Amino acid sequence: MQRITLLGATGSIGVSTLDVISRHPDKYSVYALTGNLQIDRLAEQCEQHRAKYAVVNDEAAAVRLESLLQASGCATEVIYGIDALCQVASDDAVDTVMAAIVGAAGLMPTLAAVRAGKKILLANKESLVMAGGLFMQAVKESGSVLLPIDSEHNAIFQCLPVDYQQTHSSGIDKLLLSASGGPFRGWSAEQMKTVTPDQACAHPNWSMGRKISVDSASLMNKGLELIEACWLFDVGPEQIEVIVHPQSIIHSAVQYIDGSVLAQLGNPDMRTPIAHALAWPQRIDAGVASLNLFEIAQLNFERPDGQAFPCLQLAFDAARAAGDAPAILNAANEIAVQAFLDKRIGFTQIAQVVGETLSGLSFTEPESLDAVQESDNRARAFSAAFIAEIES
Ligand code: NAD
Ligand code: MG
Repeated sequence: MQRITLLGATGSIGVSTLDVISRHPDKYSVYALTGNLQIDRLAEQCEQHRAKYAVVNDEAAAVRLESLLQASGCATEVIYGIDALCQVASDDAVDTVMAAIVGAAGLMPTLAAVRAGKKILLANKESLVMAGGLFMQAVKESGSVLLPIDSEHNAIFQCLPVDYQQTHSSGIDKLLLSASGGPFRGWSAEQMKTVTPDQACAHPNWSMGRKISVDSASLMNKGLELIEACWLFDVGPEQIEVIVHPQSIIHSAVQYIDGSVLAQLGNPDMRTPIAHALAWPQRIDAGVASLNLFEIAQLNFERPDGQAFPCLQLAFDAARAAGDAPAILNAANEIAVQAFLDKRIGFTQIAQVVGETLSGLSFTEPESLDAVQESDNRARAFSAAFIAEIES
């Protein structure tokens, strides 16, 4: 029986994870569930999955959750704050941690789980983008098993030799990173100037949280994934090729030097990578319909349009600059995406905010988590000031 802490249980990945877990009550049990704003949903999840702990961000949320749980006679214990998040991520009683908080907020609890040597199911790509060097070092030191949940990285993981993470055995020419192209594929920058948050969040193939949906529309998601892949698979950014594949059936591929290309295919449903990582190296039912290639009939591929989607190049440049450039990129993007969702800036201004922040700040090599946090703060302050300037 694997005992699981689910960081970000109320989100899109969290809900899909609980769906897979509930199909296999003989294999998995829930230890702790965490959530931020959706307290009603968290209460229902605690009742249904009999969590030992529930973690929220502050006292007011804890009081609300406690009263909901009391009313239904649920015995889940409620705790709150960042220390509580780190505690349920690193507790001795936990085997596996699903890291599915969105954004920089996921870094501390995910790292706590890594340092405690847990099996990590990593959805929170932002933590690797921000602190990849420290993160991977901690994985090595603790012997933690790190399994990617991001569909592209999970696909690449499945296409690599089983002992790749120990041996880094070569023979790899390139990683082919799939991108759907998002809702604005084929659009010009001019056409995207006036799009609304709801349009940006209407992804053609995947149903996801709002932040990653906007990132998918701007192709920043692919940029963050490029940096994520560099850390996960120990390759340079020039060894990764982004391929726009609008059907999202090939989730990514590995091209070997002998001309072989191994790809992982499936319906676009996050329960597949979640089930893969939960059961690895075994396989379990994910509740996902089997792929019908006759119905799909056709797979298409295009090069990404760097002119219309400058975020991809910004991320590539940040990956090459290394140091804290990716942390700065990530923080500026989080601020810009929130400002877009709040209708304070336009969609195409997201790239402008990130670009200005990257060129306005100098890069350093972050030697500690505090240094990463400091870079994150600097970038947030810079981009917030730039947004205020745009608005005035
Ligand atoms: P979401 O917005 O649906 O859910 C986010 C979760 O994080 C929620 O449970 C929320 O309560 C929690 N959270 C948000 N802010 C928090 C804070 N400040 N402190 C503590 N908890 C907080 O997001 P999602 O789509 O499930 O994505 C989660 C992560 O997984 C992201 O990093 C995303 O990039 C990655 N991911 C998601 C998908 C997908 O299909 N949804 C695919 C690949 C990767
Ligand atoms: Mg992805």
